[in-house]
Amino acid sequence: MKSTLDKSQAPNALTFSLLRLLTDGKFHSGELLARQLGISRASVSNALRGVESYGLNLYSVRGRGYCLNNPPQWLDAECIVAQMGERGKNFRIEVLDCADSSNTLLLQRAKPDIANGGAPGGTVLAVEWQSGGRGRLGRTWHSGLGNALTFSLLWRFGCGLSSLSGLSLAAGVALIRALRVLGIQSAQLKWPNDVLGNGGKFAGILIEAQGDVLGPSAVVIGIGLNLSLQQQVLRRIGQPVSSLADMLADASAVPERNHLLAVILPELEDVLQDFTVNGFAALRAEWQNYHGFQDQPVQLLLPDGSRVAGIVRGVADDGALELETMHEIRRFNVGEVSLRGAEHAAA
Ligand code: ATP
Repeated sequence: MKSTLDKSQAPNALTFSLLRLLTDGKFHSGELLARQLGISRASVSNALRGVESYGLNLYSVRGRGYCLNNPPQWLDAECIVAQMGERGKNFRIEVLDCADSSNTLLLQRAKPDIANGGAPGGTVLAVEWQSGGRGRLGRTWHSGLGNALTFSLLWRFGCGLSSLSGLSLAAGVALIRALRVLGIQSAQLKWPNDVLGNGGKFAGILIEAQGDVLGPSAVVIGIGLNLSLQQQVLRRIGQPVSSLADMLADASAVPERNHLLAVILPELEDVLQDFTVNGFAALRAEWQNYHGFQDQPVQLLLPDGSRVAGIVRGVADDGALELETMHEIRRFNVGEVSLRGAEHAAA
């Protein structure tokens, strides 16, 4: 699978330390930065070389030093927990500077071994920089540094994998609820795992699970969400995309990343608890209210390369898509089926 950038170019720990020192958006001389970290000026210069490729604007001015324009809002586990109040106790949040993919790492941590039973439900890994962010079917999730939220939540279910159909749709409901809490009303869902706004996709959900058909099971819910999009990221994505900044008239209204996560997690918890008791059926009507293609003409791309055209009539209690074709209503399970609006059918 392709990574967001060549992994050899992924920012290292020194780069992150320097970027954090530059977060005030002021000029810092290379000499002072070097002294603060106990390294040479050449190491400063090496560690900051190429950070523009992560979507950052770093100015280097002779005689003044380095200045980060629009510095990232760094993720901070304590700050996220504090903003959740009592609900914060239900999560164990860890922020990492770099990971291949938060889903991959959390799936590894979920696995029980001889010494322990695996990470508990409610564990969250939020990652500043993913070198191998993933979408469905081996596709790549691209994001820059500081302007996207990429995290994974581990949830444990007593039931087996066979009872979890519709879970990615349920997670979509939680995301839309969270966005509404934040005053973002225009987001819509696309079956099975995308969130759309302003004519493009701005968030994706990737659910991966471990366990037995009969249970118990451990599920990792990975979410990538664009707060704003940098050119470096935008040009790697082969479909219409957007971001919260595109959806809000006032770019300064884009929520701070820690706040965004503090709002999303309790919404996910509510939805997952509901799903545990009632399955997706309890969320189905709400999902359809947020559905961007309800009663719209679409094409479905099937695993064998064929296409089926029809009108989407909604989703079933198990999350299957219901498509009205010329002859009948057909149901499609999440599997390897992709939905495209009739006007984007060639993609
Ligand atoms: P499907 O309808 O099958 O879900 P999809 O193309 O949306 O199709 P996903 O696996 O859900 O596929 O998501 C991965 C895709 O999302 C990538 O192939 C790319 O087109 C797109 N993508 C990657 N990064 C971003 C991003 N930051 N913002 C929006 N879209 C992205």
